[in-house]
Amino acid sequence: MKHYDIIIAGSGAAGLSLAYHLSRSPLRERSILIVDKCAKDCNDRTWAFWADQPTPFESIVYRSWNRLQVVGDDLDASVDLRDYRYQMIRGIDFYAFVRQELAAFTNIIFLQGVVERIEDGADAARVIIDGQAYTAEWVFDSIFKPSEIRDELADCEYLKLYFKGWEIETDAPIFNPDAATLMDFRTPQKNETRFFYVLPFSPTRALVEFTVFSAARFSQRAYEQALRDYLADTLGVSDFRIVAEESGVIPATDYDFTRQLGRRVMTIGTKAGRVKPTTGYAFLRILQDSAAIVASLVANGHPFDVPADRRAYRWLDAVMLRVMRRHGEQLKPIFTALFRRNPIERIFRFLDERASLWESLRLIASLPPWTFMRTAFQMRSTPQTQVQPQPQARSTTPITERLAGGSI
Ligand SMILES: Cc1cc2nc3c(=O)[nH]c(=O)nc-3n(C[C@H](O)[C@H](O)[C@H](O)COP(=O)(O)OP(=O)(O)OC[C@H]3O[C@@H](n4cnc5c(N)ncnc54)[C@H](O)[C@@H]3O)c2cc1C
Repeated sequence: MKHYDIIIAGSGAAGLSLAYHLSRSPLRERSILIVDKCAKDCNDRTWAFWADQPTPFESIVYRSWNRLQVVGDDLDASVDLRDYRYQMIRGIDFYAFVRQELAAFTNIIFLQGVVERIEDGADAARVIIDGQAYTAEWVFDSIFKPSEIRDELADCEYLKLYFKGWEIETDAPIFNPDAATLMDFRTPQKNETRFFYVLPFSPTRALVEFTVFSAARFSQRAYEQALRDYLADTLGVSDFRIVAEESGVIPATDYDFTRQLGRRVMTIGTKAGRVKPTTGYAFLRILQDSAAIVASLVANGHPFDVPADRRAYRWLDAVMLRVMRRHGEQLKPIFTALFRRNPIERIFRFLDERASLWESLRLIASLPPWTFMRTAFQMRSTPQTQVQPQPQARSTTPITERLAGGSI
């Protein structure tokens, strides 16, 4: 049975980010196996995010904007991002860049195969890949299967966040390449929370992405109709060519994702709750988590000492998700008020869960009160178990003590 210091299950954003951070740390000589069922050689998604600090992936930023267009029914403002940049990285560039960076390391091995099972153990965990067992001192698992937590999800707010994006080309100059459009709610809400992003690359080329929070299934036809309607009715674009497309679905839930799946196995990425449930943004959170995991390994000899999510934000996310599920169309006035009444830095810090209490209170006070307050009050009077931290997921100290012999 082949043994590694580390096995990373899944080479998407979280798996590759972790491998990259390990390769830049004192652990760079450890043996690492990275396994994925896909070759990761196509552009299956793009990551957009705001940042006020450079990331290790500056060199592959495909486009960067220092202005955002914020639009709604009665709102159309071009916002200067000041210290922030809204950036976009294409999945294919990220996969290729990290693989190329890691190619210099003979101790880091890529394997294409299906992870069938991960079994925890006292000194090592076992990963079954295409029927063959591999062991590792630490296993990082980014393979998220909602079916594995179906029973727990039934007790939570659980919506799905659907994405469908078309990169289109037009003959006429339509787009303003100086400003990306964030959360354009000018689309029929149909009792859900629905909006568009427009990431313009030139006056005639842009990625237009439809995003829906929904408890229901969403058909490809419904996606395409919504995209066509938005392009024609809102942007006035009826003549266009689709040059690329992407789609996907991720969880939007207040489920308290477990970080520690036993003594030797840790979750990362979506499976670790790194997707901010009320926005779907995850990329920067994943990079920060990778850095924290590596810092914990280096300092403690185990990976589990990463910052816990702040409970107040989890509770606010739960309130918002409940509003989305019950009154999905109410998110449009809430987000419109958010952008109309707050400076962009305050909004970004709040959504990044870095705002001070004072900033958060000012921001919450700017939102239309009735839906938010009523739902918050209902949740206070009927407390839900899922917004309480689960000891298994958060308490690292006892495990730390049990793992005192961990050697990385
Ligand atoms: C279309 C789309 C657009 C998005 N846009 C943004 C954005 O603009 N900004 C942002 O911050 N976030 C965005 N997200 C959310 C989030 O950043 C991504 O979903 C991100 O890729 C999550 O990283 P991950 O590593 O957890 O999952 P993934 O990147 O999905 O990686 C999981 C990997 O596991 C592999 N795998 C699955 N099952 C197995 C198995 N049994 N055996 C072996 N391998 C397996 C998969 O092939 C995959 O490579 C988007 C998501 C989607 C779907």
